[in-house]
Amino acid sequence: MKVIKFGGSSVESPNTISQVFQIIQNQLQGSELVVVFSAFGGVTEQLFNLANLAKSGDLAYKEALLALEERHLDMAKALMSQEKVGKVETFIRQRFHELEDLYHGIFLIKEQSPRILDYVASFGERLSTFLLAEALTTKGIPTCFVDARELIRTDDRFGQARVEEATTHAQIQDYFAKHEGLKVVTGFIASTAKGETTTLGRSGSDYTAAILASALDATVLEIWTDVSGVLTCDPKMVYAAFTIPQLSYAEAMELSHFGAKVIFPATMQPAMRKNIPIRIKNTFEPNHPGTLINGEVREGGWIKGISSRSNISLVTLQSAGWMAAGGSLGRIFTVLSEARLSSLLISQASSQHSICLALSTEEAVLAKELIEKEFFYEIKSGEMDPVSILPGLALVAVVGENMKHDPGTSGRMFRALGQNNINVAAIAQGSSELNISAIIPQADLQKALNALHEVFFLSEHKVVHLFLVGTGLIGKALLRMIAQQKEKLLRENQLDIQVHGIANSRYMAFDEDGFDLTSLPELGAAQAKMDLNSFVSTLEEMNFSNSVLVDCTASQEVAQIYPRILGAKIAIVTPNKKANSGSLESYLGLKQLAKSRGVHFLYETNVAAGLPVINTIHDLMLSGDRVHRIEAVLSGSLNFIFSELEKGLPFSEVVALAKEKGYTEPDPREDLSGMDVARKVVILGREAEQPLEVEDIVVHSLVPKEARKGLTVEEFLELLKHQDAAYTELLTAAKAKGEKLRFMATLKEGKAEIGLRSLPASHPFYVLEGSDNMILLTTDRYYDRPMIIRGPGAGAEVTAAGVFADVIRVGNYTRD
Ligand code: ADP
Ligand code: ASP
Ligand code: MG
Repeated sequence: MKVIKFGGSSVESPNTISQVFQIIQNQLQGSELVVVFSAFGGVTEQLFNLANLAKSGDLAYKEALLALEERHLDMAKALMSQEKVGKVETFIRQRFHELEDLYHGIFLIKEQSPRILDYVASFGERLSTFLLAEALTTKGIPTCFVDARELIRTDDRFGQARVEEATTHAQIQDYFAKHEGLKVVTGFIASTAKGETTTLGRSGSDYTAAILASALDATVLEIWTDVSGVLTCDPKMVYAAFTIPQLSYAEAMELSHFGAKVIFPATMQPAMRKNIPIRIKNTFEPNHPGTLINGEVREGGWIKGISSRSNISLVTLQSAGWMAAGGSLGRIFTVLSEARLSSLLISQASSQHSICLALSTEEAVLAKELIEKEFFYEIKSGEMDPVSILPGLALVAVVGENMKHDPGTSGRMFRALGQNNINVAAIAQGSSELNISAIIPQADLQKALNALHEVFFLSEHKVVHLFLVGTGLIGKALLRMIAQQKEKLLRENQLDIQVHGIANSRYMAFDEDGFDLTSLPELGAAQAKMDLNSFVSTLEEMNFSNSVLVDCTASQEVAQIYPRILGAKIAIVTPNKKANSGSLESYLGLKQLAKSRGVHFLYETNVAAGLPVINTIHDLMLSGDRVHRIEAVLSGSLNFIFSELEKGLPFSEVVALAKEKGYTEPDPREDLSGMDVARKVVILGREAEQPLEVEDIVVHSLVPKEARKGLTVEEFLELLKHQDAAYTELLTAAKAKGEKLRFMATLKEGKAEIGLRSLPASHPFYVLEGSDNMILLTTDRYYDRPMIIRGPGAGAEVTAAGVFADVIRVGNYTRD
């Protein structure tokens, strides 16, 4: 004998039901079956919602009720032939007639008791199961519709009734002995000795099936749902969750008690007592083995799963010394249990001056009231503080029988939460050491689950969640490189880079699951308009662990949001120099913020594109070296211009050519003014721990005074023609001395100067070609022969490669 149960997610529509029927048909060939059905997907919820509407005096319940009736009638028509459907239609209409009366009653008295609610909710299973039983019969499978109220006896704790096992078992056995056909049983509902309708608690159909399995000594209990078993985490919260092949009864109970909705906690008890294995299967992937729950505690895998509950409040009681005396704890728990309130977590400081209880938010309000009533005199006399409530929280729990053998579990758990900037409001570890739970802000729940999932199940595998602003040449090249390397990084470096947001100055697009990098959306009118504030808010709301903002713009506005980004524990990688070349105070502030938040702020590509300049200086300083002098050719554009000049073209034409080739900024004055180089020098100096400001640098600009303001780029290029003769003269003079013109920067003893110099053949910069950069570092250790870093210092490809390397660094850093 096998008991199989299909939940609301399996009996959602005619399509899903046809899959269910297929499974039943296949199973019937193997063994004797009992089938349990839930209400059609979402119906129980709607029945409760309608009761709420009616109670609040809102007549909208009438229309919604009609729609619900329509849904059932449509379902009947879709599942049965015209001639057979009549009987079922009558049944449906009668039930909805009764429902209408019930809701009307609630509407009139503006009240809904738990007793009435149970009765109202019972219609969901009664309707679905009757309809499905009839549909199976018309398909040639003779069925016997069973209203579980005839079999399952409970007390009158409406909403969460307790089963009287002996009577129930006897009734089930008796009924089954007397009735023929495939029993098709309503889940969820039961009745008291007086015949009042009760329910076993939300999602209780699983429990119904377990009770039947136990009474009938079934060989197996199968729960068919919309996921392939119990997963390591709720797949709606953590996309990387995967099926747990086997769980002990205790583990399954713990996981479901702390929120894994896939199986109702009480289901395990009857099965465990008779040692009946439970299998969780997927209606939509019937060949997947799913999860087996039985009595075995298998070796390996300390943590089996992570679950969570939302809508939690913390109730805190505090006093100077009262708790140790007079059995106060006993009084608290008596009050709670008399009101049938169950706290999910209790945490008490050893000083016994305060105690924290986590309850569902609705129960917390009641708990506060009851506790304050119980301790009325203590509060009045000031011996105890009034009870405080902290709402807006969630509970996360990591569960596994074997974790008692692993002393590091809680360390890993809380480090992962801390690294992701998640505040823990309370902690508890059950004495059974089956779970460790923490109370955290509700808003951080998804991030917490993902972070914990990564640490406990994917520690070999890190995900970096990337948001890109700026889709110019560098941004595009970066996306292309990530797409190309994605597989390899995952395979060889266990690093998964997912891009969730892309924006340019006009539009932005997001994908919570990560874009398919081979077919990225074109940013255009189809997307949302770019708004930096809402871009950052979305990033914050997505609230991923290990997020990184990649800023491939040259925008001051974007640089201004860095404090907010780092403050939210989101890393930054950027070639944008604006932030680091702003005031020294803000540069130091950003570095400090990144440090205190424990996130990366990486900007190797601020200077000389992908050349390892910043990291080199950083490492020298860390290892105790001291920088005496930095000499550098840092402008690829100016280098190109002066190399071309040697070929004999006039200066103005060379500048126009450089602009045309994309070697200069859109306005070449930004390069010729030396300001771009000045910013880079400031950054290098600051990395070498020299407190520089851009204004301190002596810059000999190549832009004539009269062309600095008020001219368009074209007018400027025109005006530049007046300079041609002067440059030809400079060049001729240099050539005569066997020298070359170089636009270089020198930083020495905290003073920096930038300008055009004529350099002899002995100087290292003499040999520079094209748009290459070169940096000479004279330090304590590299004194007689300075360290030279040389190579292409501009261009989208090399810059993007440098940005990519920084992103990978973020990923490797977050490795546990
Ligand atoms: P049914 O309608 O079949 O009773 P439920 O909606 O009650 O199905 O339960 C299945 C859902 O439970 C899944 O769709 C999933 O979102 C949720 N869930 C939460 N935690 C887990 C988990 N650890 N493993 C699998 N599913 C989970
Ligand atoms: N239909 C009930 C509910 O939604 C019981 C169940 O589905 O298990 O809570
Ligand atoms: Mg369920």
